[in-house]
Amino acid sequence: MLFLIPLALCFVGLPLLLIHPTCPQIFGEAYSHVKVNERVVALTFDDGPIPGFTDDVLAVLNKHNIHATFFLIGERAEKNPDLVKKIYTAGHELGNHTWSHALMLFKSPQFTREQIEKTDAVLRKLGYNKEIYFRSPYGQKLLILPWVLSEMHKKNILFDAYGWDWDSPGTDKIVENVMDKVSPGSIILLHDGCGTREQTVAAADTIIQQLKAQGPRLSVCNRNRAACHEQRDERRLLINSERK
Ligand SMILES: [Zn+2]
Repeated sequence: MLFLIPLALCFVGLPLLLIHPTCPQIFGEAYSHVKVNERVVALTFDDGPIPGFTDDVLAVLNKHNIHATFFLIGERAEKNPDLVKKIYTAGHELGNHTWSHALMLFKSPQFTREQIEKTDAVLRKLGYNKEIYFRSPYGQKLLILPWVLSEMHKKNILFDAYGWDWDSPGTDKIVENVMDKVSPGSIILLHDGCGTREQTVAAADTIIQQLKAQGPRLSVCNRNRAACHEQRDERRLLINSERK
């Protein structure tokens, strides 16, 4: 019976490992953390845009002079065009979080590609002209999604520091969850969509204050600095700069 253990590891353990956001993809590029020499992190928000909560997040970012990346759900972007424009005209980046936020583990290549292309098309129609990164819903991937992304030359931008804010565990707990996991090069995940987000908005305010108090973690990559040309693809758009 012992011979079943390695088989179980192969057929159950390996797929579970590949699904997890912090594990590598078999195809294409995925990042849950960026290798950096400086104390920087990237701040990201998922599942918007949602009128009210996205506006509140933007106000917090503006207050602290910080840029973030917003991974938008396509059908929500289409319903809220002015909010999409408000995000990127404030200097933030837009990402593609699929059209309908479906779990993409066992979807067909055609369904997967349509979810991505349709969302990109809306963002382009609304005037966004920078590279559009991708983040898989729930941070999960297996084989088909990474393969489609690699065919489309898209990076999957995942995360390694998250607040469990989708469970609304309380502002202090969200802050604690993020601060426990964050390290230089981390990609922080919070949500401006996905239910009521008052706790997240308050937590983002505190997280930014605490990170700033610890050093220039949020301020490294000024896009005009020569220092950022190194590892440019990974850092320029992932690590968001404090505005000058
Ligand atoms: Zn999501």
